[in-house]
Amino acid sequence: MGDKSRIEAILGKILEAVGQADDRGRPADYIEQLAYVDTRYCALSVCVANGSQISAGDHATPFSIQSISKVFTLAIALGRHGNQLWHRVGREPSNYVFNSAQALETRAGIPANPFVNSGAIVVTDSLLVSGSPRETLAEILHFVRYAASDDDIFIDGAVAASEKRTGHKNFSLAHLLRAYGNLTQECDETLGTYFHHCAIAMTCAQLARSGRFLAGVQPGGTVIAPTHLRSINALMSTCGHYNGSGEFAFRVGIPAKSGVGSSILAIVPRRASITVWSPGLDDYGNSKLGLAALEMLSERAKLSMFAVD
Ligand code: GLU
Repeated sequence: MGDKSRIEAILGKILEAVGQADDRGRPADYIEQLAYVDTRYCALSVCVANGSQISAGDHATPFSIQSISKVFTLAIALGRHGNQLWHRVGREPSNYVFNSAQALETRAGIPANPFVNSGAIVVTDSLLVSGSPRETLAEILHFVRYAASDDDIFIDGAVAASEKRTGHKNFSLAHLLRAYGNLTQECDETLGTYFHHCAIAMTCAQLARSGRFLAGVQPGGTVIAPTHLRSINALMSTCGHYNGSGEFAFRVGIPAKSGVGSSILAIVPRRASITVWSPGLDDYGNSKLGLAALEMLSERAKLSMFAVD
């Protein structure tokens, strides 16, 4: 990625450019707690393979990681069930919005991939087979804290409660899954667990550190098998930005996962883990300026895996 001062200079320039943008997108408003987040926040953090970290902007302010938690639950589920998981969830991008019931109907109850909501609900359900919701959430939180080497990471109960109040689409997905025989637990139990892991709050700096294992750097021992890391990175590349994944590959070109909390976790395999947070979403539900920031970073640091120069 280049030396520290060069990265610092690039991040500074990106923050300056992003700070001047007029159209910052709109925060997710279907989850009340996210609707009022100040769209002037902006943070970037780069955690390089050797463990050094460069952060800029509001990198110490916690936010709701939302869908990025699906990367961690997938890692745990793959570790536990291995390839058996693929009997319950597909590995294909979806051209439907992230919470589409129509997409699930079309595929007779087998979600397209683990990152659309129905897929993530199935992954969460698979973790509940051997533990209560409380135990499962403790395991997820432990995994994230271990990956970040930081115990100061928590679940924001108010965000989880707020999503439960208005998560009607997710309830409809859970009931559909159950009707198709692809949910083993009661809808309330699985969704309660799902809403809570989506409500994990982290700072940009913590999130970048927690994603370092995906770049293949696993401090303190193997977190998950390299073969599963490859699968997750492949899925992040093809499905990490919902039906905007093609656009992300085109503009940035590295594995990444976005969340409606307006952050993105991006991975440069073997080299770095990068996060950006800029509240305000584009039409696909991805951070509008976060994507623009990563595009600039990819361009300047030559990160795209599709580049040949
Ligand atoms: N908790 C959110 C939901 O289920 C996650 C969506 C996202 O971050 O993309 O709608």
